Amino acid sequence: MFLDKEYLFTPGPTPIPNRVNVAMSKPMIGHRSAEFPVLLEDVATRLQPVFGSDNPVCILSASGTGALEAAAVNTIEPGDHVVVIVGGAFGDRFAKILEAHGANVHRLEVEWGTVCQPEQLEDFITSANYQVKAVFATYCETSTSVIHPINELGEVTKRVSDALFIVDGVSCIGGVPADMAGWNIDILVSGSQKALMLPPGLAFVAVSDHAKEVMKNNKAARFYFDLNRYFDAYEQKKSTPFTPAVSLIYGAQEVCQMIEEEGLDNVIKRHDLLKTMTREGIKALDIPLLTSDEIASPTVTAVKPENGKANEMKKMIKDKFNISLAGGQQKLSGEIFRIGHMGYCTPYDVLTVLTAVEMTVKAIDGKDVLGAATKRAQEVWSEHV
Ligand SMILES: *Cc1c(COP(=O)(O)O)cnc(C)c1O
Repeated sequence: MFLDKEYLFTPGPTPIPNRVNVAMSKPMIGHRSAEFPVLLEDVATRLQPVFGSDNPVCILSASGTGALEAAAVNTIEPGDHVVVIVGGAFGDRFAKILEAHGANVHRLEVEWGTVCQPEQLEDFITSANYQVKAVFATYCETSTSVIHPINELGEVTKRVSDALFIVDGVSCIGGVPADMAGWNIDILVSGSQKALMLPPGLAFVAVSDHAKEVMKNNKAARFYFDLNRYFDAYEQKKSTPFTPAVSLIYGAQEVCQMIEEEGLDNVIKRHDLLKTMTREGIKALDIPLLTSDEIASPTVTAVKPENGKANEMKKMIKDKFNISLAGGQQKLSGEIFRIGHMGYCTPYDVLTVLTAVEMTVKAIDGKDVLGAATKRAQEVWSEHV
């Protein structure tokens, strides 16, 4: 086979459209040139609908975790009490970042593979004997492949407290709806290498006016991720305080163009279709899924084969069929494999990965399931054309 033909189905990084690669190979420009402010303003404003943000989106040169850290250090001072919803590896990461910066972290633990219900958050906040400064949630918890009811969690947060509502949208923004004002989100962060179909290296932070005020008054130590520096540089010169990843920002401009051409609504519908095709296909093979349909993410699917065959299947799918999937993280290690279907992903891509899963089931279990998953996925797709 052609080993240079990549079949990348990890939930980040994700495949890069060729036209984005072309855009990223433009000649370098100086970030203090006359051209750069035009580029930055174009991208920061065209990303607004993708984040559902009333303000231009702040662009950092970092991986997604940099944006999580920026959200934390700009809002929280050592000793502040925060609530972190932890239902997987990324909720846990948010908690660890906050702990590292001296926050009093109250973990609202939910069983992995489920979501935090609004009532659970309400009980947790109202029974707290401390002032909650902020609630941290994960929109798509990539490690378990669930999608949280962010609109309802935001509503609860604001109804029962004065806390900021801060959301990690790294593995879904660009594939799901977002409405910061309507959903009471103060900060929504993302990264480049997931549904935004860029290489790793950019982190995005969308911020409400209220959060901006909090950041101005925040006394916590910070420098590179001091967002006030980014807001000042943007407002004064449409620039960045430090050297930005210019090539990636050219790529982001092309991504905005692609999203606008397809239409954001259609992008979101496509991700729903990819999810349903993937889930129905796997079900047709009688392989259990980790999560229920109601809370399943449109961007990634967690498959939980019986008898702990997840790693064996993932390895065969890679070794024999050249398709890269992700395994389980932390306590789900060896229990699941995950199929990313976000960003530059089409229904044909889902058929490709399901084909490999079918052949793998046949090889491992001796069951003749060829065509079963792909047929079911095609039926789903047919209903949408
Ligand atoms: C990928 C991811 C991140 C950020 O990871 P980086 O490796 O720092 O880019 C954060 N949160 C979630 C939910 C993710 O999926």
